[in-house]
Amino acid sequence: MNKYMLREDNYQIKTIKHDEKFWQPLKETFPNARCELNYRNIYELAISVILSAQSTDKAVNEVTPALFRKYPRIEALAEATVEKVIPYIKKIGLYKNKANHIIQFAKTVQADFDGVIPSTIEELILLPGVGRKTANVIVSEGFGLPGLAVDTHVERVSKRLGLVNPNDNSFQVEMKLKRLLPPEKWHEVHHQLIFMGRYLCLARKPLCSLCPFREEYCQMIHNKK
Ligand code: SF4
Repeated sequence: MNKYMLREDNYQIKTIKHDEKFWQPLKETFPNARCELNYRNIYELAISVILSAQSTDKAVNEVTPALFRKYPRIEALAEATVEKVIPYIKKIGLYKNKANHIIQFAKTVQADFDGVIPSTIEELILLPGVGRKTANVIVSEGFGLPGLAVDTHVERVSKRLGLVNPNDNSFQVEMKLKRLLPPEKWHEVHHQLIFMGRYLCLARKPLCSLCPFREEYCQMIHNKK
């Protein structure tokens, strides 16, 4: 057994040092990790993130230019109907629910926040269609404030790297990552973990031979030994 200590459930506890040495390969492998949604302002970012639930950023980027031409501001979207919005987003999954969510989001921002999208996670999660993941993206990407969104990629990679426990839910993953990292690193590491999940540590067939974490940190490989 190497430096890892194992608990009764055979899962590593925190003897790994998640210091610069740990994070450096992530930075070197994904130096250009960034948000892959196209947006020009916080309104467009918020709507794009809501639309991206269970869809790819690429698919969302294909539908949003026409949607934002038709509804360039939150006031316009707040006046729309589901039937009118659906044709613009029909190419992405769950489009009926999403049409409803973005309209209700716009209406609520208009009614409760004077048309200004709020900048705190606590306020954002009160809005229709906005969960913690979306709220963290808006806060960090849109407002440049500390936020660390946990999507399916961040959760999977964090578990495989032993940053969190295998049974942790997305909220627990978010809290643990936020404790592991200083707030000024949250934005950057969030994007690096997403890129790792999208392009290297794929859900079904991870490209382990290319992975800098393979020898020392990967729990999937470690647990197979
Ligand atoms: S070695 Fe493979 S499974 Fe482990 S973190 Fe790297 S890509 Fe993912």
